[in-house]
Amino acid sequence: MARAFNFSAGPAILPLSVLEKAAGEFVDYAGKGMSLIEMSHRGKEYDKVHAEATALLKEILGIPEGYKVLFLGGGATMQFGMIPMNLLPAGKSADYVNTGAWGQKAIEDAQRIGKVRVVWDGKAEKYMRWPKLSELKWDENAAYAHITTNETIGGIENWEWPDTGKVPLVADMSSDFLSRPVPVEKFGLIYAGAQKNVGPAGVTIVIIREDLAMASPNLPIYLQYKTHYENDSLYNTPPVFSIYMVKLVLEWLKAAGGLPAMAELAKKRAAVVYNAIDGSGGYYRCPVATESRSLMNIVWRLPSEALEEKFLKEAGEKKLLQLKGHRSVGGCRASVYNAMPMEGVQALTAFMAEFQKNNPAV
Ligand SMILES: *Cc1c(COP(=O)(O)O)cnc(C)c1O
Repeated sequence: MARAFNFSAGPAILPLSVLEKAAGEFVDYAGKGMSLIEMSHRGKEYDKVHAEATALLKEILGIPEGYKVLFLGGGATMQFGMIPMNLLPAGKSADYVNTGAWGQKAIEDAQRIGKVRVVWDGKAEKYMRWPKLSELKWDENAAYAHITTNETIGGIENWEWPDTGKVPLVADMSSDFLSRPVPVEKFGLIYAGAQKNVGPAGVTIVIIREDLAMASPNLPIYLQYKTHYENDSLYNTPPVFSIYMVKLVLEWLKAAGGLPAMAELAKKRAAVVYNAIDGSGGYYRCPVATESRSLMNIVWRLPSEALEEKFLKEAGEKKLLQLKGHRSVGGCRASVYNAMPMEGVQALTAFMAEFQKNNPAV
C-alpha cells in the first residue's frame, strides 16, 4: 500500500502502527474468539481498555486529583450545549471569547440556554488572531469563562493560558488536544472531540473538576456530567471501539515521548510549512497574524482561486490529500497533527516549490 499524506482537519491522520495494531486484533481480541466490539462493555476485556485509556490520559496530561476523565458521545458539538445546561444557571452569565467558527458555535448554543457575555469578538478582524490576554476583561461573577484554544478553520491558536481567577475556565481543545503540555489545574473543564488528534470520531474526551461535575440541574440523565462522573463514563454503553482506538494512540504517544515531544515535533513540522509560505516571495500567503499561527492547522492562499484549484488537484495526484481550506473560508489548509510524519510536510513543501515554479503568478 502507498500510504497517502492525509492533511485532513478531521477525521484525521492516525499513526500507522496504531491502525495496524487495531487491524491485527480486530477480529479475535485477546484470543477470545470474538472482536472487542462484540463484547460487553461490562466485561473484563473492555474494562481493562477503559481503565487503561483513563490512566494514560491522566499520566500523559498530568491531570491532578479532583478531576476525572469522561468519555462521552455527541462530539465536541454536544459539549457546546451540555456546558451551559450544566454550568449556566438562571441569573448568571457566562463569558465567551469568540475567536472563530467554533467559538461562534459554542456561543450560539450557550445563548439558547442562558445569558452570554462575549468578552472579545474577533469577527470584525476576520478572526485573524487570538486576542492578547490584556484585551480580555473577565467578569468575576461569571458562571464560567469559555475559550477555544485552537480554531481549526481559521488556523489560529492560543499561546498564553488565560487566568480567570475563581471563575472556572472552560476550553474547547478539540484540535490541539495532546499537541503540547497543558496546565490542567488552571481549567475547570477541558473537552476535545477525539477525531482531530486522538482517535476516530465517536468519542469526546471531557476532563472535569469535581465541583463542576456535581452541579446537577434537573436534566435528562445522559446530559448531566454528574451521571458520567459518578459512573466513570459507564452509566450507559460508551463508544467502546473509539475508546479502544484512543487507548492505542495514547500508548503510541507515551512511547514517543509524551507531550513535550509532541510539542517539539509540532513546532518543527509547522516551521517547515510556514517557512515555505513566508519564503515564497508572497506567492503563498498566510492571512493569520504571526503570533497567533496555529501549529496544527496551517492556512494559506495562492495568487488566485484558479491557481488554488489547480494546486489542490495536482497535490491530490501526488497523494497530498485533503488540503482544501474549509468551505466557509476557501484557500488551502494543511492539518498537521501528532501523527503527521516529517516526510509529509517535506513532501508538501517540495510540491509547493515545484508548483510555484511551474505556475508563476500573472
Ligand atoms: C471539529 C471541532 C468541533 C466539532 O467537533 P464534533 O466532534 O464534530 O462535534 C468543535 N470545536 C473544534 C475546535 C473543532 O475543531
